[in-house]
Amino acid sequence: MNKVSQGPKFVVERAEGAWLWDDNGDRFLDGTASLWYCNVGHGRRELADAVHRQLMTLDAFAVYGDFANRPALELSERLASHAPVVDPRVILTCGGGESIETAAKLARRYWAAKDRPGKQHLISRTGGYHGLHGIGTGMIGMDRFRTGFGPMVEDASVVPHDSVRALEEEILRVGPENVAAFFAEPVIGAGGVWAVDAEYFTGVSEVCRRYGVLFVVDSVICAFARMGNWFGIERYGVRPDMIVFAKGVTSGYQPLGGVIASGEIAEPFWNRPGNPFHHGTTYAGHPTCCAAASANMDILEREDLFTVAIELEAQLDAAVRSLADHPLVAEVRSGTGVMAAVQLTEEALGERGITTAEVFAEARARGVILRAVPHSLLISPPLIITWGQIDHLVSTLRSALDAVAERHQ
Ligand code: PMP
Repeated sequence: MNKVSQGPKFVVERAEGAWLWDDNGDRFLDGTASLWYCNVGHGRRELADAVHRQLMTLDAFAVYGDFANRPALELSERLASHAPVVDPRVILTCGGGESIETAAKLARRYWAAKDRPGKQHLISRTGGYHGLHGIGTGMIGMDRFRTGFGPMVEDASVVPHDSVRALEEEILRVGPENVAAFFAEPVIGAGGVWAVDAEYFTGVSEVCRRYGVLFVVDSVICAFARMGNWFGIERYGVRPDMIVFAKGVTSGYQPLGGVIASGEIAEPFWNRPGNPFHHGTTYAGHPTCCAAASANMDILEREDLFTVAIELEAQLDAAVRSLADHPLVAEVRSGTGVMAAVQLTEEALGERGITTAEVFAEARARGVILRAVPHSLLISPPLIITWGQIDHLVSTLRSALDAVAERHQ
């Protein structure tokens, strides 16, 4: 299987709803919707049928030049109709990282087309995660992903995640004539679930406009109902120049991502053979992936998982906050979207030598899958999780913390 990493594997055999089964037949609660993506839950027959139907109609034919396919066109129309972007245009890709590369290149290429080729610098935020392709690795807000890979994209820097003023100062330091775009997640996900004040994005949007910096929202985690709306950023009432999406667009049943760019950004390239955006990949707009996305969006709408998510957000918040009194827990972050982080104390992680990986392992041994990052345990369940399952998840996490605390007395 995976020839690079060694050691025993946890083989996931099948899944249904919010449950997984391993190859011993043991059952586990999926507390993370796999990697933040399985919003509609596992085992949806409707999605399998949509993919099968599409394979039997048109397996694949690449989208390049003037080639298109019906599922890609229909999906693009549908995404555009929901996007909080002015005059939206859709570029489809195969995942999140690829979409970040596309957005970053489009930002730079846009400025070049506007006779401002100096505008190349990309700014992101501490804790920001934008995939691990070339440009994404270069501007990631977590150093450990950048070391040991040699030279990175040079014109990139990171600012504190919650300060509009820090962004403005960085733009002025680099020089507005050199800055192409600012990238931000509505809520930072993989970096540890960090939400911002209600006014932050209004301020960001104003600063970006003032200095001619494109504002790119990375909604790879936050979209498709995880924040109770289509793209997460609607909660803050701003309209970015681009939105990057992936994951929940298909709930992971097929790999798909994309960029929604404003008409202004796309205009120099749209249907203009003389001035094209020389960028694209083989499987972009793959019809089976697009068919899965449309079927997934049908489910989100029909079951109104948007309203469900708003209720779940409050339920998860209340449940997970009950862990704040645990001696190993420094902080619980939750209440903005269906996601939470339980951060361990410096004492636990330092003097006592406890790792989040240990807590993860204890929880898994008790039948609950969480995600461990260096300081925190992350929770981001499928949006079909029940109240009883949330309760089970949180009480299992408490037992796991107790077990680890006891071992490290
Ligand atoms: N952006 C964000 C916010 C993400 O969370 C991720 C993946 N965790 C990516 C980009 C990269 O997506 P992918 O892994 O599909 O390349």
